Amino acid sequence: MNIIIVGPPGAGKGTQAKLICNEYNLTQLSTGDILRENYRQGTMLGKEAAKYWSVGGLVPDDIMINLIRQEMKKPVPGNGYIFDGFPRTVAQALSLRDIFDELTLSLTAVIVLDVDFNELIKRLSARRTCTKCGKTYHMMFNPPKVEGICDLDNEPLCQREDDKPAAIENRLKVFKDQTLPLEKFFEDEGKAQHVPGMLGIDEVYAHIKNILDKCK
Ligand code: AMP
Repeated sequence: MNIIIVGPPGAGKGTQAKLICNEYNLTQLSTGDILRENYRQGTMLGKEAAKYWSVGGLVPDDIMINLIRQEMKKPVPGNGYIFDGFPRTVAQALSLRDIFDELTLSLTAVIVLDVDFNELIKRLSARRTCTKCGKTYHMMFNPPKVEGICDLDNEPLCQREDDKPAAIENRLKVFKDQTLPLEKFFEDEGKAQHVPGMLGIDEVYAHIKNILDKCK
């Protein structure tokens, strides 16, 4: 089972991807998490990528495609992949199709999370992220037990550089210009399954599960 989850920044892709990953025993490939981990470790890739993500832009396609290709060469346990944050452009989707062909994998479904833009701005600006494990919180709707501290590892929470207002505006523009055309791409392929992302986490997940259970 190989699933792609697509949606604007703040739609809940990472949260839903983790739930899907646990339920169906998949490997989560979250390109945003991989880039942030590289940045924390001070790698060349992390430093190069930070020039783009810190201002809300996209990291160039060739870097991202290479990254995914490398990740997919690693042996992984489980029943397949859930791609979270990749592809983000049609060029990336075409390359992923080639990689699937090379590895004789097939794409099971593309979950498209629909959320309106006003809601996204609210969600992103109130989001706080654990500096160590990356778990995210919403200051109002999903706060940590102790203010400013991650429930899982007691590490401090921070506001991601790209969750600050100027970067949010840019990310949403980039999404409209470069990622939205992907939805049509996957619709034309007959793979896109739209899910109402405005609902609560559990309700969104119930919609997704309903779709994926039919694909098993
Ligand atoms: P995310 O955590 O998925 O919101 O990703 C954070 C940032 O990493 C994005 O705003 C981009 O700058 C960069 N990024 C992650 N995935 C990709 C991708 N597939 N293509 C280009 N840039 C990406």
